[in-house]
Amino acid sequence: MHNFSLPKSKAFEALTRTAQERILILDGAMGTQIQTLGLDEEAFRGHGGHTCAYHSDHPQKGNNDLLILTQPEAVEQIHYDFAMAGADIVETNTFSSTTIAQADYALEDAVHDLNAEGARVARRAMDRATAEDGKPRWVAGAVGPTNRTASISPDVNDPGYRAVTFDELRIAYGQQIRGLIAGGSDLILIETIFDTLNAKAAIFACFEAFLEHGERLPIMISGTITDASGRTLSGQTPTAFWHSVRHARPFTVGLNCALGADAMRPHLTELAGVAESLVCAYPNAGLPNAFGQYDEEPEDTAAKVEIFAKEGLVNVVGGCCGTTPEHIRAIAEHVAPYAPRQIRETANV
Ligand SMILES: [Zn+2]
Repeated sequence: MHNFSLPKSKAFEALTRTAQERILILDGAMGTQIQTLGLDEEAFRGHGGHTCAYHSDHPQKGNNDLLILTQPEAVEQIHYDFAMAGADIVETNTFSSTTIAQADYALEDAVHDLNAEGARVARRAMDRATAEDGKPRWVAGAVGPTNRTASISPDVNDPGYRAVTFDELRIAYGQQIRGLIAGGSDLILIETIFDTLNAKAAIFACFEAFLEHGERLPIMISGTITDASGRTLSGQTPTAFWHSVRHARPFTVGLNCALGADAMRPHLTELAGVAESLVCAYPNAGLPNAFGQYDEEPEDTAAKVEIFAKEGLVNVVGGCCGTTPEHIRAIAEHVAPYAPRQIRETANV
């Protein structure tokens, strides 16, 4: 059976309908909220509360995804705060929950649980929020780029060398995506893509997982452009990036992270001009300061994101690094008066 002959999931239909009516709101940065908790090594390991069933001798401080298992109440509260600030879609705290990324912490064995529980924790928070205000909400299973690139050599003296292969990525992403689906994710969000070949492996893994699951979930695909030439790390313009991923028939294509909303705008304009899917944008809260912190005020970020909406570029907006529930609340208020971008008519989506 072919991936595209699978029925679409219920959430897919509901999201498509809602996106025709208004601009959808995505959440903000999980990492920024986790930092404010000031957790130490013990807290990351969960001593005294929930403990991780998987053993590792490596330090775990900084392994934010592990908090799904060791501090689930804290993670759930952050999701809930974003939902109540106006997020229709929240991302699971699973950006690094692949065997490839968790190898840094020797917690490869925990990958399935991280993803399945990551989706469940987010679902619980969404259900609590919906019980209060009746608004439907969706869980996006977050799939990060991993810390290795399939199309670029990390060794300047050996340009042919690759730290990871397509198949290694496909297998690692497949494990992650199966976990995210098992935990009840409504969408799969492949984000912060700096190497398009990595993203292609994640897309392929989605197709394989959907076939097993028996239905097709919406896929969101988000690249990141970090330099002034307007290209991804693997060298693509926004137009080339769209053509590399359009075979996935994504629910959204877009940009996140990088240099903040101002610097993102010309690249988003280009992408919105070619994309035959919905368009999503979630920039950082401006540029980091000398200490690596983001201090753009919610109203400032929101005013910049409002321009995306005013120019008819977007269907989904939210925030990346440095954005808090206050940023998301301000963004939601600022874009509310604007109609969503019109999707270009296409036969194959
Ligand atoms: Zn970011």
